[in-house]
Amino acid sequence: MGGTFNPVHLGHLRAAEEVAESFELMRVIFMPAAKPPHKGDGEIIPFIHRWRMLELAVGGNLRFELSDLENQRPGKSYSVETLAQLNGELGEELYFVLGLDAFLELPTWKRYRDLFSLCHFVVVTRPGYSSTALNSMLRTQVSERYSFDTKVRGFVHPRFTTVYYREVTLLDISSSRIRGFLASGRSVRYLLPEKVEAYIYQQGLYQSRKMNGGQ
Ligand code: ATP
Ligand code: MG
Repeated sequence: MGGTFNPVHLGHLRAAEEVAESFELMRVIFMPAAKPPHKGDGEIIPFIHRWRMLELAVGGNLRFELSDLENQRPGKSYSVETLAQLNGELGEELYFVLGLDAFLELPTWKRYRDLFSLCHFVVVTRPGYSSTALNSMLRTQVSERYSFDTKVRGFVHPRFTTVYYREVTLLDISSSRIRGFLASGRSVRYLLPEKVEAYIYQQGLYQSRKMNGGQ
């Protein structure tokens, strides 16, 4: 599961848990983007903080792991490079877990068509996004030969990997909303793990006074 995790919240964790259960995955690797190509630098706090919060969040879940692969590479973090590298190193079948909002953005990603040879996708529901867009995106931007298979609950293709679609518990939580709450001094309790919340306050993250250069 890739993302900026700025910061990680219960929407990420619950989606990962439900997908792991549904697919009987051996493990879920959270892959924080070191330098996300699409997000302005201003809003993204340093990798080390996002990593530490992920560590606090996944601690205690034996199936959850972290990878700093994207921080080891110089330059922007392109998923196509990460997945090619993971494929070579792990030699296991890969399922790229992502929310419907992120999947619909795929056509803006570097060499996105190549991804459909590198990994399967597990697209999970996200409040505010309709699954009808998924069908049209796949068929117009990737290949007309993708068709929905009710048995696998996903889109199959004669040559490309499968795009599974899973309805997970809808949690309308986003990192951007959490950042907004923190910046205006509002509570973020029950939106993310307690330990992550404690870390944010300890380090004074996202609180606007500090982000505006008050440090
Ligand atoms: P931001 O608001 O900064 O974009 P975000 O909450 O969308 O943050 P990301 O780090 O961008 O979090 O998301 C990483 C991945 O997790 C994406 O594939 C995204 O679709 C998915 N995701 C994020 N929040 C949820 C949620 N509440 N439910 C399901 N999937 C989610
Ligand atoms: Mg997002």
